[in-house]
Amino acid sequence: MSTQLASLRLKKNEDRRIKQGHVWVFSNEVDIVATPLKSFEAGQQVIIEASNGKPLGMGFVNPNTLICARVLSRSPKLELNMKFLKKRIQAAQDLREMSFDKPFYRLVFGDSDGLPGLVIDRFGDVFAVQITTAGMEVVKDDIVQIIDNLYHPQAIVMKNDTQSRKLEGLALYEEVVLGEMPDELIIEENDTKFSIPVEGGQKTGWFYDHRMARGRLQTMVKGKRVLDVFSYLGGWGVAAANAGAEEVTCVDSSEFALDGVDTNAALNGVAEKLVTIQGNAFDVLNALRADGQKFDVVIVDPPAFIKRKKDFKKGSEAYRRINEIAMRLLEKDGILVAASCSHHMTRDNLLTAVQSAARHIDRNVQLFEQGHQGPDHPIHPAIPETEYIKTLFFKVSPTW
Ligand code: SAH
Repeated sequence: MSTQLASLRLKKNEDRRIKQGHVWVFSNEVDIVATPLKSFEAGQQVIIEASNGKPLGMGFVNPNTLICARVLSRSPKLELNMKFLKKRIQAAQDLREMSFDKPFYRLVFGDSDGLPGLVIDRFGDVFAVQITTAGMEVVKDDIVQIIDNLYHPQAIVMKNDTQSRKLEGLALYEEVVLGEMPDELIIEENDTKFSIPVEGGQKTGWFYDHRMARGRLQTMVKGKRVLDVFSYLGGWGVAAANAGAEEVTCVDSSEFALDGVDTNAALNGVAEKLVTIQGNAFDVLNALRADGQKFDVVIVDPPAFIKRKKDFKKGSEAYRRINEIAMRLLEKDGILVAASCSHHMTRDNLLTAVQSAARHIDRNVQLFEQGHQGPDHPIHPAIPETEYIKTLFFKVSPTW
């Protein structure tokens, strides 16, 4: 019963952010005299209260992390149980169904869907679950049970191999916890089919977050030579080939990823248009330039170069540099698609990086389109970290 939940008391004035709608409590905000953090177990449910004892809501604790508690509900009467989880997952499902008519989307996006530390990607009848908080780990079996009850899936995979679990004191593992994985798992994004290697793939296996921007790109590539840098499985490149690009080159350092590009190209009947190059993107792009290669469209969608704020200077310089090399490979009046999935690299930072690169090599850039994370990655306005994807489309011309 919720009345039996222990309390976690905040220091004076430290309830302000929570009252404004944020859901994270930092360890230095806790009144550890009244409620010592070490008296809690990792994942334990608590009532979070203001310094005067007034309940702010219920949530769960991890005494070992900087973010030591997360609010789940403003109602101190609720508990994180099957009923709670089912309701939140169904609400998340309703939002996705508004935008997508096929069962391929991120079903749950953590804090934004009121389920801190839980990501569920839906690949038709296969569900990939990633848990990154001790509190969600406690109800892991309930989550599996709910997915089973609601969707009768063919398989559920726990993709609990992300490094951030270490911060929460959780073990790293990947396991099929229900059913059996199909030999091949195929999803549809916009009009293109992709084979998803959930097991062995990056993160949950697929990056749904760029779907809308990839669709936008498809309207710009007919008859064009396209270069997809940091391609992973060809999310941009194969979609471009499928939309009538004449030739597509995908660059990635991972052989596994490029094998996926080949599979996906074949799946869509565009294998003859696809070329893959394995290597460090910076080196490969320089080599293409030395070779005199030119492209009409270059997509630069790298992994997060800035994971923590302190990496900003180095990371933003990497964004500037890779986009500069990309611009050098463009035909006159070509298109540069510059993307970033680093929360700390804001849209304005990315814009500045591209503009600075353009000036450096005497180009003129026009930002003519902007992409964003899709509707299956909703943003929590009080939690800026939930907004992370930006995609800027530039026309690149000789300087005016
Ligand atoms: N553009 C992809 C997502 C990029 S994920 C998509 O739309 O799905 C990042 C990819 O960059 C991974 O496939 C990883 O193998 C690759 N990668 C990371 N560092 C790299 C580097 N220095 N050079 C080339 N590829 C790199």
